[in-house]
Amino acid sequence: MDVHNVDLTISAVAEKQYPNTQFPEIAFVGRSNVGKSSLTNVLINRRGYARTSSQPGKTQTLNFYNIEDKLYFVDVPGYGYAKASKASRQKWGQMIETYLTKRQQLQGVIALIDGRHAPTDDDVSMHEWLKYYKIPTLTVATKMDKISRGKWNKQESLIKQSLSLDANEQLVLFSSLTKQGKNEVWQWIEGRM
Ligand code: GDP
Repeated sequence: MDVHNVDLTISAVAEKQYPNTQFPEIAFVGRSNVGKSSLTNVLINRRGYARTSSQPGKTQTLNFYNIEDKLYFVDVPGYGYAKASKASRQKWGQMIETYLTKRQQLQGVIALIDGRHAPTDDDVSMHEWLKYYKIPTLTVATKMDKISRGKWNKQESLIKQSLSLDANEQLVLFSSLTKQGKNEVWQWIEGRM
């Protein structure tokens, strides 16, 4: 999709604030700092539009971005901040769980992992959870420009194995610097609309 119009409709803290539309929604999940804002900005052809790196302790919101009055990107707060309090981690879980399991407009989840490393325990849990609820998921490995191409195959296998991805579950290798993988991500999104 060639995106010109994007609007942050709402940063929601409660279900009743979610947009009252039938546009398909695609949610983005991943650890804090994984490159979620950077991916979003590449997809919508903007620089610095989606917030970068939410800080621990900041209000955790679900951010609904209206894309061309056709769909919503839903930015889910990053998980896995060791420093976040137990209470705030529980709150994170409840809000996300409610959204991801109950939202009828949700058509799929883009789950980001840091392509340079093996998936973390939190990444593995997130994938197990998405699989358990049968939520269509695209895994995106970020920051691929930081590792040499010669190592991509090995890294790809490691990620697929660690996350127990089936043959029909797609993994996209992405870089916000080179924009490698952008079209594949868009193709997957358009296939969900
Ligand atoms: P978020 O917290 O998941 O939204 O992560 P950000 O998008 O803010 O990215 C966190 C940091 O990683 C920032 O310093 C980004 O510039 C950097 N970053 C994100 N994506 C990439 C990428 O594809 N390549 C490189 N080299 N750096 C990236």
